[in-house]
Amino acid sequence: MHIHHLNCGCMCPVGGKLFDGYSRGLTACLVCHCLLIETDTNGLILVDTGFGQRDVQTPERLSRFFRAFNNIKFEHRLTALEQVRRLGFDANDVRHILVTHLDFDHAGGLQDFPQARVHVMRDEMAAARTADTWISRRRFQARQWQGVDNWEFYAPDGDTWFGFDSVRALIGAEEEDIFLVPLQGHTAGHAGIAVRTSDGWLLHAGDAYFFHDEVHQAERRCPPGLKFYQYMMDTYRSARMRNQQRLRELARVQDGHVEIFCSHDAKEWERAVQQHPVRVDSSAMPSATGKQSS
Ligand SMILES: [Zn+2]
Repeated sequence: MHIHHLNCGCMCPVGGKLFDGYSRGLTACLVCHCLLIETDTNGLILVDTGFGQRDVQTPERLSRFFRAFNNIKFEHRLTALEQVRRLGFDANDVRHILVTHLDFDHAGGLQDFPQARVHVMRDEMAAARTADTWISRRRFQARQWQGVDNWEFYAPDGDTWFGFDSVRALIGAEEEDIFLVPLQGHTAGHAGIAVRTSDGWLLHAGDAYFFHDEVHQAERRCPPGLKFYQYMMDTYRSARMRNQQRLRELARVQDGHVEIFCSHDAKEWERAVQQHPVRVDSSAMPSATGKQSS
């Protein structure tokens, strides 16, 4: 198993450091941290997709509100499909996609991988389909998964992962240790994705938190912009806060064994890329690696 940390989208809302805690200029910088997992027997597995080719071609398919508020930068080179190709693979090599949730900045690339089975919590799809509030009608864009018909829906089945409810992803007859870990709050069916690696565990926590110090410090710290954004996007606020508390505890107790990161913290993504460098120059031509997935 080899894991690439990809950034599949940039959002630059106004507010600089007050928004993201880091940026010096007028605008902030949020990434869309996704994982591309090369497996021996199950092809490529993608965790979240950021923005896809069709979002870049037709940004109007996303809500005007979020395009403006998040100041989304639509670039083909950031799409998961382009990055998969630069690594020497083909769209059809991606056999599975696990999504933390179905917000517009996570589900944009689903249509770019026609051979992939899409794994998501059942409650998430139910909430996305009903979308009955002002925010939910804008955050969930059914057109992003129009024509996607290969789904696997999950509900917690009694398994636990470090004390969290969890459910094993149905990928290749239990050969991969990949679990959906419900972290409700941001959305109704939001889940982290836990992946066992040779060094321990990764937990892609999606939008369960937005800023490193919310989970990796004993006392939660979050810049006002991201605090407001999470507040605006909350489906179940108390559940989100409770799950952040549990993630803080997990990070403290399992430090060094479980690596926890979220979707949009640019510093976390940069650190992950430094720790797990891509094996080939990302500008390399597709044929440069000569690698084919099995
Ligand atoms: Zn998000």
